[in-house]
Amino acid sequence: MPIESWKGGEVDVAVIGAGAAGVGAARQLQLLRPDLSIVLLEASDRVGGRARSIHPFGADAAALDLGCGWLHGARTNAWTGIAEEVGLTVDRTPAPWSDGGHRLEQNDADAKAAAAAVNDFFERVDDYRGNDDADLSTMLSPDDPWSERIYAVGAFMTGGELDKSSVIDLGRYDPGPGPDWRVRQGYGTLVETFGLPVPTVLSVEVSRIDHSGADHIVLSTSKGELRARAVVVTVSTNVLAAERITFWPPLPEKIEAAARLPLGLANKLFIRIADPEIFTDDTHVMGSKHSRRTGAYQLKPFGASVIEAYFAADLALDLERQGIDAMFAFSVEQLKRVFGADIGKTLSPLVASAWAGEPFFGGSYSYATPGASDLRSVLAAPRDGRLFFAGEACSKARYSTAHGAYETGVAAAEAVAKAL
Ligand SMILES: Cc1cc2nc3c(=O)[nH]c(=O)nc-3n(C[C@H](O)[C@H](O)[C@H](O)COP(=O)(O)OP(=O)(O)OC[C@H]3O[C@@H](n4cnc5c(N)ncnc54)[C@H](O)[C@@H]3O)c2cc1C
Repeated sequence: MPIESWKGGEVDVAVIGAGAAGVGAARQLQLLRPDLSIVLLEASDRVGGRARSIHPFGADAAALDLGCGWLHGARTNAWTGIAEEVGLTVDRTPAPWSDGGHRLEQNDADAKAAAAAVNDFFERVDDYRGNDDADLSTMLSPDDPWSERIYAVGAFMTGGELDKSSVIDLGRYDPGPGPDWRVRQGYGTLVETFGLPVPTVLSVEVSRIDHSGADHIVLSTSKGELRARAVVVTVSTNVLAAERITFWPPLPEKIEAAARLPLGLANKLFIRIADPEIFTDDTHVMGSKHSRRTGAYQLKPFGASVIEAYFAADLALDLERQGIDAMFAFSVEQLKRVFGADIGKTLSPLVASAWAGEPFFGGSYSYATPGASDLRSVLAAPRDGRLFFAGEACSKARYSTAHGAYETGVAAAEAVAKAL
């Protein structure tokens, strides 16, 4: 349906992007201002964005999340309550890295030394009080025997290599108190289900936002023009920095902020297990102790007959470019070293994400380059009381998370509700 025919091509509020932020913004606006007409415009053919679940084992079995999977800071994470409200199941199995979680790494001297080195590193980051920002590699102790492990953990967190990311920004990261839980039907299913009451147009790419007129903002889209009294932009920083959406008049401070808050990369490969008895449910193992180029493997999440392999930063990009077979071969080599040479026979590749190459995302989650942490506020700042910005990268402390994205969407909705 061309947008012109949708209520005459005019709405009160257009929300661009149906990820956690866009869905959060639209639902909050519906709540606060039922008098306003709202439309959610999404370039891809589905709602959820970087929250994306698939159901290869049927609707009743646990889902696989290709994007976000963990309800970080679960007790205060808004999505936990929403999951229960919409009738989904919050699974409280402790995450492998928290108390009561299962890790295969023996509790030996090496494992303790590695964990202590990683903790010390994060404490140095949290305690950093320098006036000038620095890159995270400067927080390594010289000659730390566990520096490769720290590189690996840093990459999983930021999606970037240590020498590219800001110390100050990681020091500000705080997903909130509470453990990490999951949604059995998938985080993607949760965002999608919550978005159901919102009037949504899928497969419509916004290419230009003309905010020069006094009365309306005019959106140019692949399905025609749409006029709106207010617009909420929630697309990723890589989409903004690539200027896949242009602004008129231009907004160079937004483009610069987005470019200096790029998306890091994390990808998942799900590996099918033919002989599931070999592995223990919901157990975690690192592929290597001493190389930063390692996968992290979650064995049988929810007891399903799969392994979730997780790759980040440069390794993730190399493997994404080579394709799913290379990802699988890399994982099998690492798993053979842990479980023995025969393990390869029971494994086969199921599905992999490729977030860097997805044109409407361009990566996984944002990190700040050194000196760029304060640009999160520049990115989030509204223009003229009618052009608003949200999305995980706009959150000062909960960037890179789906609940941080949601909170920025809610904040934008509250600002729109006041402005109109
Ligand atoms: C592998 C991976 C693992 C992760 N793990 C976790 C985790 O465990 N816990 C956690 O909290 N977070 C995790 N995250 C991060 C989390 O998924 C994101 O921070 C969050 O989903 C981002 O939501 P958003 O609404 O800001 O952006 P997006 O989800 O990117 O939404 C923006 C939407 O805009 C659309 N769009 C883009 N361009 C246009 C255009 N021109 N016109 C119209 N629409 C457009 C996109 O298609 C997209 O749907 C993970 C991410 C990945 C990739």
